[in-house]
Amino acid sequence: MSERRTLTSHLGDAPLTDTTTTGIDYRPVAVMPDVKVVKIGGQSVMDRGREAVFPILDEVVAAREAGVPILICAGGGTRARHIYAVASELEMPTGVLAALGSYVPRQNARMLQMLLASHGGLYIDTDDFEKLPLYIQLGCLPIMTGMPPFGYWEKRGPEGRVPPNRTDAGAFLSAEFLGAPRVIYIKDEDGLFTDDPKKNPDAVHIPRISAQELIARDLVDVVIERVCIDYLLRARAVREIQVVNGLVPGQVRAALAGEDVGSIIYHEG
Ligand code: ADP
Ligand code: MG
Repeated sequence: MSERRTLTSHLGDAPLTDTTTTGIDYRPVAVMPDVKVVKIGGQSVMDRGREAVFPILDEVVAAREAGVPILICAGGGTRARHIYAVASELEMPTGVLAALGSYVPRQNARMLQMLLASHGGLYIDTDDFEKLPLYIQLGCLPIMTGMPPFGYWEKRGPEGRVPPNRTDAGAFLSAEFLGAPRVIYIKDEDGLFTDDPKKNPDAVHIPRISAQELIARDLVDVVIERVCIDYLLRARAVREIQVVNGLVPGQVRAALAGEDVGSIIYHEG
């Protein structure tokens, strides 16, 4: 009779809540670190229509055709804000808002896919992550929703009932999963300012700032979802968040070429 074997592992009988056993540092494998994860803004880009969207897609396609591997994540925008307002007025919990808000970025992703179809545009679901290496090798331009799939399980954030993890967060988490060192946000301002430049004409552009300093500054409003700044502090792969103005010709091209245009929020240390 064979002897019983017992598998030993350092987490086998750990409660997983004890910081001395779960706090062990590790370096996760970088699955596809060369992929440029790019979020195309919902309100900032998609809702502006063809005038804003088409030139951005031209620059994305040119980069893809030059060999740059790209994953596009779509934002939601004004339609998502409407459903947040209606559902919120009807006293829906955050999880319901997150579930309902997830439809709009998918609509935008589907439209982007149609526009990019002749250049290898391919709509993917979040579960298709494993297929990304193949799609990229085939020269495709995968597009997916930026919304992370928390849905009904989304938690209320410190700012109220609107889901704190929206499409900026999903793009960040996708880049972190893939092991990419930088995540690129295409929006409608030159990056981060000291205040919302749409409301405050005296707002000053911040070309480079650390996540730590940005948190310390405690700005009234920021250009990306606040959770992304917290994620940057904890991330293993993503070291920088770049925000560029898609309305200015050449900015997307430059960002995809690795240039430090727009604003960069970096992890210090
Ligand atoms: P998206 O549609 O890409 O998610 P949002 O409209 O949600 O973009 O966020 C981008 C907007 O954030 C900018 O157009 C700008 O008006 C606003 N904003 C708020 N605070 C700032 C800030 N400190 N610096 C730059 N932009 C800011
Ligand atoms: Mg937004």
